[in-house]
Amino acid sequence: MRAAYVRRIDDLGRVVVPAELRNRFGIGSGEALQLSMESDRVLLHPCQTGCAMCGSSDRLYRLHGRSICSACVTGVKNMAGHHVTGHVGAEPTGPR
Ligand SMILES: [Zn+2]
Repeated sequence: MRAAYVRRIDDLGRVVVPAELRNRFGIGSGEALQLSMESDRVLLHPCQTGCAMCGSSDRLYRLHGRSICSACVTGVKNMAGHHVTGHVGAEPTGPR
């Protein structure tokens, strides 16, 4: 059985996406959602296409539901200095 949520649209046409769905699909505050129509349904698609930190689409890794590019992974490792060794637990996404 699919989870279903009922939400009312407010006077300005806004609707709240439940936190459970945002967390499951890695949809953060300020991120874009694509709305599309399919016969009698409206579909919401997370549409993060680049790095969550800089927007780059070069060599993306997934971590906690977000995409991060290799340059930002390296930047974070450098910020952490000697406290981080080896990989950060991120796995590459897309074609290798
Ligand atoms: Zn980046």
